[in-house]
Amino acid sequence: MTVVRLAELLGPPGPSVFLRGVVAGGRYANAYLFLGAPGVGKGTAALAFARALLCETRNGPKVQGGLFDGGAAATPADAPADDACGACSACQKSAQLTHPDLKFLFPVSGEEKELEKNVAETQQALREDSFFVFNYEKAASIRLSLTRELLRELAYRPYEAERRVVVVRDADRMRGDQYSALLKSIEEPGASTVWVLTTARASRLPATIPSRCQRVRFTPLSEPTIQQFLEQRVGSTTPEARLLAALSGGSLARALTLRDRKPLEERNQALRLLEPALQGDPAALWAAVQTLNSYGRAGREVLRRMAEFQQLWLRDLLRARQGAPREDLVNRDREAEIRRQAERTEPVEIRRRLMVLEEMLRAIEGNVTPELAMFSALSRLGGGRPDGDTWPPHATARWDY
Ligand SMILES: [Zn+2]
Repeated sequence: MTVVRLAELLGPPGPSVFLRGVVAGGRYANAYLFLGAPGVGKGTAALAFARALLCETRNGPKVQGGLFDGGAAATPADAPADDACGACSACQKSAQLTHPDLKFLFPVSGEEKELEKNVAETQQALREDSFFVFNYEKAASIRLSLTRELLRELAYRPYEAERRVVVVRDADRMRGDQYSALLKSIEEPGASTVWVLTTARASRLPATIPSRCQRVRFTPLSEPTIQQFLEQRVGSTTPEARLLAALSGGSLARALTLRDRKPLEERNQALRLLEPALQGDPAALWAAVQTLNSYGRAGREVLRRMAEFQQLWLRDLLRARQGAPREDLVNRDREAEIRRQAERTEPVEIRRRLMVLEEMLRAIEGNVTPELAMFSALSRLGGGRPDGDTWPPHATARWDY
């Protein structure tokens, strides 16, 4: 697990500055709600905030009955006043998710008897894989039995720290009665618990929750931020990182998920699909769509990515038409082809194709047979050309991809 500190959060500095201010001031609200799109760093920030709060270098370890006489020896001289020190025993425990005053709830799916195992496995994966991405099934939820257990514990004082921190990831995946219990705890005066909730779907929370929380907003990450992260931290090549950043929509989690699927190969596959489409060869196109081997929900996702890769390519053609330099091209590893095709394709035609792909994306989402939706949309890519001199009249020369 990469232990990210508040000072190291990616993206615009707002949340990091705010949260460090809270830690430095030492005055905590009863509850915080981290809002923002999926994969922009809310969960990472929530755990970083929890670690900073629990760090002993500012608070000193809780002395009980004089049994312990301080932990000053473990305090590094340059410990920050507004962040976790990363060295004290509290920091070490919270980094391993074993601090008794750090409670971490997240959505889980599966049967109740498997619950403990599933939770332990996810925590282990989180410790072992620095770039672990939470991926839920549709039915995954913050489990009732776990919140019940937690609420029982909240009746007691924290074990080691002044305060206990409860991080609830994707807090929108709870049920009505869980929210009432949560509210009751949040509203308790003088509570020794700090709640940190995250959500990408605030509209699913009962309105009473956001209104009782101090809200912290997280915005999508910029493409250069994601590209740089992938190159420096994950070891992606520049072409791959550029492509993933462009496809990520500002979500690092999405970029990391796509990275596991060999994006350059997938991109090339997507571009190969364009060939029979633009040649107007329906038999070859149908065969090519079939090779995507798509089925079920996962298949729909593959088709969607194919369409997105194709869009990125066409946008590169437009950029090239406008004389964009190499570094502005997403697919710059294939710059020569982009320049060649751009020269041969009018912007109005590129825009028409982009619109077809846009319709295709919608059709893939809504259609029971996404392959058919893709096939029928791609079939229209090659057609619709203006008559006259713009395009060579004979079929083979229409090949301009
Ligand atoms: Zn510490």
